[in-house]
Amino acid sequence: MGVVLDKFEVLRNIPSVDKLLKNKEIETLIIKYSYALVKESVREALQRLRNRILKSFDTEIEEEKIVEEIKTLLNKRYSLRPVINATGVVIHTNLGRAILPEEAIRHVVEISTSYSNLEYDLEKGQRSKRYTHIIDAVKKIINVPSAVIVNNNAGAVFLALNTIAKGKEVIVSRGELVEIGDSFRIPDVMAQSGVILKEVGTTNKTRLSDYESAINENTALLLKVHKSNFKITGFTEEVSVKELVEVGKKMQIPVMVDLGSGCFIDLKKYGFYTEPTVQEILREGADIVTFSGDKLLGGAQAGFILGRSAIVEKIYRNPLMRALRIDKMTLAALEATLMLYLDEEEAIKKIPTLRMILEDAILIKKRAVKIYKKLKKQGIEATVKENLSMPGGGSLPESPVKTYVVALKVETPQEFTRKLRKTDPPVVARIKDDYVLFDARTIQDREVSLLVDAIKQVL
Ligand SMILES: *Cc1c(COP(=O)(O)O)cnc(C)c1O
Repeated sequence: MGVVLDKFEVLRNIPSVDKLLKNKEIETLIIKYSYALVKESVREALQRLRNRILKSFDTEIEEEKIVEEIKTLLNKRYSLRPVINATGVVIHTNLGRAILPEEAIRHVVEISTSYSNLEYDLEKGQRSKRYTHIIDAVKKIINVPSAVIVNNNAGAVFLALNTIAKGKEVIVSRGELVEIGDSFRIPDVMAQSGVILKEVGTTNKTRLSDYESAINENTALLLKVHKSNFKITGFTEEVSVKELVEVGKKMQIPVMVDLGSGCFIDLKKYGFYTEPTVQEILREGADIVTFSGDKLLGGAQAGFILGRSAIVEKIYRNPLMRALRIDKMTLAALEATLMLYLDEEEAIKKIPTLRMILEDAILIKKRAVKIYKKLKKQGIEATVKENLSMPGGGSLPESPVKTYVVALKVETPQEFTRKLRKTDPPVVARIKDDYVLFDARTIQDREVSLLVDAIKQVL
């Protein structure tokens, strides 16, 4: 029989806080986080170890293990944490929508760690508008008379309606009175913005004559809402932006299009998507177009308002503009993201949202195989399967597209995914029958090893 240390002897061998703080790895953590934060984590890790020893769960002390625990504690120090998205949904609102391009991150860091010319004209040495930076960037990419930008697209729609049609009637097709996410309902936003909703047509059919006969002297706007998260198929009819613009011109009523997921690149030539671009909508003559900054565009949360100068100028002067003002970090992220659009190929390569949405199935399969092989090395049996998913996740009215998943057969998938959500970093995956599916489309290359570790941990 070997020597059995009693737990009080083990307790005496616990290293001191000071000794741990001099550990090489801990020293690098202090540089990364802060002395106070690391010290707090060291204390907590030691307390946890002490408790485990007292309960006789741990019978020996390994400094390496303590350091690992400290690292885990530091990773969990914030409530807002990185997550591995294995759902295959690229524009996932609950998981934070767009992953920013490196260029955007660098610009955000640069701008937020020093003073900047946010609202200062360096040429004239006087006050200027924060929006000029982004308007200049937009104008470099597309041909648009005027632009302004607010906190998000819901805010953009709200502000535009409030400015253009407060107390007046806005005509919308019944088929476009949509709900997006769980809180943005077009009729509710319209009501709150002070306009009077005038529904025309039916759910599946709205004709030009429906709009025409609804117009009266109190009509201030014709609104078209892009169906972002669903498609009505079968016996349908809707009025195009072009047709609406013709009526608007004739009756001298502006036309606004809420595009939702605004995109500057024509995705149609890459296959499956039929999203109209922002340019197309403007070319068709819409007076105002609104869209999000963090959907297909792949930038930070924002709401773009583009269009005719006279209207945009009025929106800009709405006192509510201040309440919906966007912050300098967002501006920096968007400016850098927009610059990538100067070259389409570069945009697709460097903007993660576009890269993932358009990624070739062969490359997705390659990543899935890589995960599969790494799992196999750890003695974990899985399979690579072809699958269908909806990368737009409610931001594109799409049909399912081909993807590849790593499928892991487990006894209790619900239990398994629950545990996966508690690993570090947490993993969010899909369940299909007895399988947990990891969609390789939304797993980043740098996350492959972390994902394998997480799966191993849960098993
Ligand atoms: C997503 C969406 C919105 C809301 O945009 P946020 O940027 O999330 O505020 C509004 N309208 C449409 C058509 C959308 O698709």
